[in-house]
Amino acid sequence: MTVTAQGPLPTGSYDVAVVGAGVVGCAVARELARHPRLRIALVEAQDDVGQGTSKANTAILHTGFDAAPGTLEARLVHEGYERLGAYAAETGIPVERVGALLVAWDAEQLAALPELAQKAERNGCHDTSLLGPDELYAREPRLGPGALGALHVPGESIICPWTTTLAYATQAVRAGVDLHLNAKVERAHRGTGEDHLLQTTRGVLSARRLVNAAGLHADTLDRLLGHEDFTVTPRRGQLLVYDKLARPLVRHILLPVPTALGKGVLVAPTVYGNVLLGPTAEDLDDKRATGSTADGLAGLRDKGRRVLPDLVDEEVTAVYAGLRAATGQEDYRIAVHPEQGYVTVGGIRSTGLTASLAIAAHVTGLLQDTGLDLGPVREPQPLTMPNLGEAFPRPYQRPELIAADPEYGTLVCHCERVSRGEIRDALAGPVPPRSLEGLRRRTRARAGRCQGFYCGAAVRELFESAQNEGIRT
Ligand SMILES: Cc1cc2nc3c(=O)[nH]c(=O)nc-3n(C[C@H](O)[C@H](O)[C@H](O)COP(=O)(O)OP(=O)(O)OC[C@H]3O[C@@H](n4cnc5c(N)ncnc54)[C@H](O)[C@@H]3O)c2cc1C
Repeated sequence: MTVTAQGPLPTGSYDVAVVGAGVVGCAVARELARHPRLRIALVEAQDDVGQGTSKANTAILHTGFDAAPGTLEARLVHEGYERLGAYAAETGIPVERVGALLVAWDAEQLAALPELAQKAERNGCHDTSLLGPDELYAREPRLGPGALGALHVPGESIICPWTTTLAYATQAVRAGVDLHLNAKVERAHRGTGEDHLLQTTRGVLSARRLVNAAGLHADTLDRLLGHEDFTVTPRRGQLLVYDKLARPLVRHILLPVPTALGKGVLVAPTVYGNVLLGPTAEDLDDKRATGSTADGLAGLRDKGRRVLPDLVDEEVTAVYAGLRAATGQEDYRIAVHPEQGYVTVGGIRSTGLTASLAIAAHVTGLLQDTGLDLGPVREPQPLTMPNLGEAFPRPYQRPELIAADPEYGTLVCHCERVSRGEIRDALAGPVPPRSLEGLRRRTRARAGRCQGFYCGAAVRELFESAQNEGIRT
């Protein structure tokens, strides 16, 4: 198992280098790792996997009911929904099939619902139904007044996005993928032979095939490879996270009728037992603009007040923002350049978490089109991820686990009920965190209503002693 975060990169050529360890790059690396003859590198600019857009989304496992029929995105979201649903059940990634209600607030929106139901049919989503106001309010009693009806999409689900990315990366690394962190690709060119030479912040890495999964920066890398096919315009989505006390207010994912700018502002439960309100949709120039703004949050509260009036009086635990990799086209920008041994995976805007496993299978097929011989298949070792979801037993609720190992009964983060045992396991994992934020994503320590006010020092001590231990060994 190899994860590196400093020092020069290995010499010798990889069969495939995947640039970008977001949910998409990690899924691609995992899929390629099923072929043990391949030597694969996963190269990431930051110090952890899933640090880009993949850490800041609305965490919905989409059925793809509202995708533009016939697009690659529609196909891969539909397929990815099935694949990730099955994978989550297998690996213990928390998923709750709460269903979505697309709520109509005026006559025009109500009139649009039957067409959306037909679109869902065309996208292979056959179990939607139209609800009148009585049934709608019976399902969502705390919904604001004035809703006229809804489209019910029972398959829409909520999922843990962090566990998903980490599961892919863990399986990839365990199966032999080299994960190189803190290695930003700054230049790329073909050497005298067939290889791509990637100039990174940690030196040169060479690979016969290249997959560009650089998210917001996929266009920049594409240009380095001589392609001018698309430009990424970051589309910011700000969100509010409400405290767990708000969770009983909402049963489904509450969606508005979509607009040209996207899926609109939703209210959704999370698998951690919070409630999300957002996201905004703001086209920006700056690919680092992940800050929240007073205007953005106020706008969300206004929209939220209509949908679920009681929600906006609840306490806000956190705010965050993610940037969608919009490209001006309502589809993914996945392209193969066989003569270059190069696949671009661009424009994975609003559905990449859901579609990740299907994108990975598709990209692997495209790599074969470049002449890559995958060799035999060896299925990855089964994996069980730690459960961060409230709908399933957490370690502190499992007496048999605590009896076997009392560390699971010693709580460190009381808001999120995270035990010493979980923190210890995360710090010793195959893809360990390199920051407190990384530890938070793996365990939820410091993610609760106190945001680390009470447990921060204890969590930091555990983190730092693991770092020091790592330096000594
Ligand atoms: C507000 C919001 C809500 C969303 N909601 C959902 C949802 O509910 N469901 C869903 O399925 N999807 C959702 N999405 C979309 C989903 O989050 C994205 O499609 C997905 O995370 C994209 O993953 P990625 O791996 O392509 O990009 P990223 O996660 O951004 O990963 C790209 C990686 O490449 C690295 N990188 C970039 N340049 C270089 C370089 N030169 N060298 C090395 N590494 C580099 C970056 O550091 C980053 O880690 C949402 C997105 C947003 C913003």
